[in-house]
Amino acid sequence: MLKVHLEGHDKYYGITDVIRLWYDGAAEDKEAQMVVCPAGPDVEIYSILNPDGTSICKAGGKVYEPQKPILEPGREIKRSLYLAMRDIAGRDAAWGCLTGIRPTLVAMEEQSAEDLINKYYVRPDKARLAMETAAEEQRLLDLIDEDSLGIYVGIPFCPSRCSYCSFISEDITKHMDRLTNYEAALEKEIGLVAPRINRRISTLYMGGGTPTVLSDRDFASLIDCIFAKIDLTYCKEITIEAGRPDTLTEYKLGVMREHGINRICINPQTMNSATLAKLNRRHTADDIRYWYGKASSMGFDVINMDLIAGLPHEMPEDFISSVRSLIELDPANITIHTLYKKRRASLTKEVVMDRTDKRIGLDPALQEAYELLYEAGYHPYYMYRQKDTEKGLENTGFAKGDTGCLYNVAMMTDYRDVLSFGAGSSSKRCFKQDGPDSKRRVERCSTIKDALGYIARYGEMADKKSVFFGF
Ligand code: SF4
Repeated sequence: MLKVHLEGHDKYYGITDVIRLWYDGAAEDKEAQMVVCPAGPDVEIYSILNPDGTSICKAGGKVYEPQKPILEPGREIKRSLYLAMRDIAGRDAAWGCLTGIRPTLVAMEEQSAEDLINKYYVRPDKARLAMETAAEEQRLLDLIDEDSLGIYVGIPFCPSRCSYCSFISEDITKHMDRLTNYEAALEKEIGLVAPRINRRISTLYMGGGTPTVLSDRDFASLIDCIFAKIDLTYCKEITIEAGRPDTLTEYKLGVMREHGINRICINPQTMNSATLAKLNRRHTADDIRYWYGKASSMGFDVINMDLIAGLPHEMPEDFISSVRSLIELDPANITIHTLYKKRRASLTKEVVMDRTDKRIGLDPALQEAYELLYEAGYHPYYMYRQKDTEKGLENTGFAKGDTGCLYNVAMMTDYRDVLSFGAGSSSKRCFKQDGPDSKRRVERCSTIKDALGYIARYGEMADKKSVFFGF
């Protein structure tokens, strides 16, 4: 069992995060002032924060001391532990000791890729990716007024539950009766809050779940309501997730086009139909091609398509084959996610774990995918990571030309406020602080998660948000 003793500090969280880059299951033992990890090797590490702010780790008679410059204590502790763990585990981690979910925020603080490599031990290819993505994120952020609001509308229902999903979406086949009532409650919440909004709206994003799971009538009613109630005069971008092709109809696409919406997501996750069936997604790769072609011909000129690297039942070459298939379709955006072991997902541990040996190829597969995307004229425009992602790898959105999604960038960087409607959604306010520009203090206001509860209490949620934003 791996044991990390903490001396002179209490950064349990940071220690756990670094261990997780190599081994699952690290847990705090505050009474004993250490973090333990049964999956790790039998080694004891002493993580020491010195009074001068430097940090060293001692293990097996060796001392691990990061090079200068000295960063803030929390980062120093991670740096020294990273050096020890890298030595003990015998391999590095792609993102070095950067464990946070937004590596580009650190990149925005730095001058060059070399800074990320030297200070945080980030691998050169990831350092360059982070710097390039951070620059594009900054460019897109500059297009969004600082005081404006992003709007999110959430539909937490799907036509079936994908086996890897951890969102709060419900399988609609079990809750058909709820959908219309939910949509009606959503309209009422929007109707209560919208007249109070006293700021310009910069972006609108409808996500889920799968918004297009609504019936034709309910979908049209919701879109009409949004356009009637919310002042979208200054809105620069509207995105609707039509993630599952098994929910699309020409009617819904027509409703969106009638309102001038030209940005949608049609997400295959994989272009391997056999995998799609095993993941409980009730559509095929051909369905994706059909609806992508249909949407393109109807004038949607920014279509995003998501893929997941590291899906169960797939080898790295299956993922690369999906990347090639999407490049052939030529959507404006392709987003590459790395599977993370989501706690709520119904994937059994065995399904994930029995592929461990095959996952060795995941990191090179991502690199190959990025090279293919660059060659095809895409560039990275936003990035984030999730806890427990396989090997600490990232999710990256790629775009052609000037088609990167403003809402995604604003959302992931925590640089702009978001007002959210619907069950399980979270509104947030981002406050500038003294110090590096990347630092923001974020306050959040959550909406009740359960759809039935939301239907009964939408009015209360509307009032809560109005108070939160001071409308
Ligand atoms: S479509 Fe998305 S939100 Fe819905 S079940 Fe699948 S992964 Fe979850």
